[in-house]
Amino acid sequence: MRDQYDREINYMRLSVTDRCNLRCRYCMPEEGVCKKTHEEMLTEDEMIAAVEAGASLGITKLRITGGEPLVKRNIITLCARAAKVDGIREVAITTNGVLLPRLAKGLRAVGVSRVNLSLDTLKPDKYARITRIGTLSSALAGLDAALNAGFDKVKINAVLIGGFNDDEIETLAALTLRYPVDVRFIELMPMLDHPEFGPEAFIPCAAVLEKLPQAVPVPQDGGVARLYRLPGAQGNIGLISPVSAHFCAACNRIRLTADGKLKPCLHAAEEVSLKGLNAAQMRETMQRVIYQKPFRHAELSATLHSQAGRNMNQIGG
Ligand code: SAM
Ligand code: SF4
Repeated sequence: MRDQYDREINYMRLSVTDRCNLRCRYCMPEEGVCKKTHEEMLTEDEMIAAVEAGASLGITKLRITGGEPLVKRNIITLCARAAKVDGIREVAITTNGVLLPRLAKGLRAVGVSRVNLSLDTLKPDKYARITRIGTLSSALAGLDAALNAGFDKVKINAVLIGGFNDDEIETLAALTLRYPVDVRFIELMPMLDHPEFGPEAFIPCAAVLEKLPQAVPVPQDGGVARLYRLPGAQGNIGLISPVSAHFCAACNRIRLTADGKLKPCLHAAEEVSLKGLNAAQMRETMQRVIYQKPFRHAELSATLHSQAGRNMNQIGG
């Protein structure tokens, strides 16, 4: 359906858990999440009912995210049920990849067609530092599993952090020469407190192009990334600039958090609960929230933080 500003809203991001097997410094606190009670979270049936409500209003694309979606015990059944919902044409998943060696083939078999895998560095010590508890080899094993499982598309997401991985832009981009993957650089978003990231950490995507003068622009694929390609590459370089050049005017998405909050905008405080609603109430609430989706979010910068009031793992990236 269209919102009050005539934007076609056809994309839902469903966060299936706020838990994670990593602790990325820009995403969640070291101590993990303050665990909510089971009763506060959406059940599998409620998640599917929300997808059905969305699909009845014109949602065609679903992205399963988190937290880390693959730590959820029922992830395969959930994806299988979501893929069968009338009107849903594409189910994609965003993951840190660590559990893909065990789950990639199963996800593909139940209808997940695309995978985005987060990988901010190709250096083992830096991977351990940014994720606090992860090992690069497990993420790379996940990439390998994703590439071998037959997904329609595999994309790598790298959060661009000045002083941390801006010296690896060329190496990360070169993954598009080696593998049939897109590599997307995402500007660091100032969510809740990020005491360890000073102003120098927030660098614009323009820094990527400075390091890749040979990259040529290619037409956009309908997503939010501006696309480029290295000569001879098998995939594109994507630049996602929520801070330096927000894309609110073309935003086509809504988000549903694992505790049932429908968020019409990632960076706005507004959220409306779907928890405990029946199918008709869910549809009616969703219709109202989509229609009233704000035109844009407030400015973001190193000093102007998101008004979301949640860390990214509690929203769904
Ligand atoms: N655990 C999965 C993963 O890491 O891909 C899915 C959830 S994670 C919240 C989704 C995406 O959000 C990841 O690509 C992650 O890098 C990105 N992300 C998290 N916090 C961010 C921040 N402060 N700024 C920019 N991107 C962020
Ligand atoms: Fe976990 Fe993904 Fe957040 Fe990293 S970015 S802590 S992998 S949810």
